[in-house]
Amino acid sequence: MAGVYISYPFCNQKCSFCNFASGVSSADAMARYELTLLSQIKAKAWPWLPETLYFGGGTPSLMPLPFLREMTASIPAENRAEVTMEAAPGTLTAQNVRAFRECGVNRVSLGVQSFASAELRQTGRRHTAESVADDVALLRENGISNINLDLIAGLPEQTLASWQHSLDWIERLAPPHVSVYIFEVDEDSRLGKELLLGGVRYGAARVPENDLVADLYQNAVERLASMGIERYEISNFARPGCASIHNLKYWRLEPYLGFGLDAHSFDGQGRWSTADSLDEYCENALVTPAFTPTDAGEEHFFVGLRLSGGIEPTPEEWSRFAAPISKWVAAGFLLRESSRLRLAPHAVLLSNEIFADFLNPEPVHA
Ligand code: SF4
Repeated sequence: MAGVYISYPFCNQKCSFCNFASGVSSADAMARYELTLLSQIKAKAWPWLPETLYFGGGTPSLMPLPFLREMTASIPAENRAEVTMEAAPGTLTAQNVRAFRECGVNRVSLGVQSFASAELRQTGRRHTAESVADDVALLRENGISNINLDLIAGLPEQTLASWQHSLDWIERLAPPHVSVYIFEVDEDSRLGKELLLGGVRYGAARVPENDLVADLYQNAVERLASMGIERYEISNFARPGCASIHNLKYWRLEPYLGFGLDAHSFDGQGRWSTADSLDEYCENALVTPAFTPTDAGEEHFFVGLRLSGGIEPTPEEWSRFAAPISKWVAAGFLLRESSRLRLAPHAVLLSNEIFADFLNPEPVHA
């Protein structure tokens, strides 16, 4: 069954590494957005019941509670398997955690990014390792034990020692799920832009080299496995039975519907998304967005190979993608195991290059 994603794109600060459509806005802009989002949700006909809800952003844990209650009451529900709330450390209180529970939230994803104070200061974050521990305790006291903690490899000031410090905290807090992202250098974050320009602001001169970032990632894979938290997708790690039901829909090409700013949807045949500027979204939220049909074969490889278990290509896909499959199997980066194909563990950091080969593959000539 389908999942629903809802974006709340407001934050207390804009972090230097963040390339999401999110940030600090005026109270008027937030109120206008909330009204628009509610009208977009209420205008939806629901021929099916969402299996999962995911509140992302931005910092949805900052949502006014009456707005959250009205929104969740407007979405049909029956035994939702998973309702995730993303939260920035320091935004949780006993009052809002209890209200989240009442609205059905049973999973919280904390965007910790780092437990090292020098890294946090440099990126604009205000929390400390101890305050994250307090947040985790508060969630558990209030009945939410399904907790994800996010880390980012590649932040300014990061060293192997500071990374170990962050992983030590993960071990101490023992969450059931951890996400490890690699900082993306692109135009959409202040730090990424500064790196592309060769500047030094935002700690750009103290970003670790690519080889060190690769070591940090590999180190996380090994340490998390030693804690019983195994990788099940390139950036996602979980104890047995604790993988995110909602996020698995993305990689298994199951349908999902997005509401709010820059929210993406997929129905099995194609994708569409809402505007990524606040004004444009608020003006056009009720206009049907452009639909882009997808190529099921390309998507099967491009998205499905992110999963550690890999994919089972159809007979047509084995033949259509024979050239890139042979190339990457021969290089040892793809593993063929009977009818399945999966990324070799050491190929994960090359995955974008490998996946790109499955878009418009050259035809094989007899
Ligand atoms: S990283 Fe999270 S808290 Fe920071 S600006 Fe981005 S969405 Fe907001």
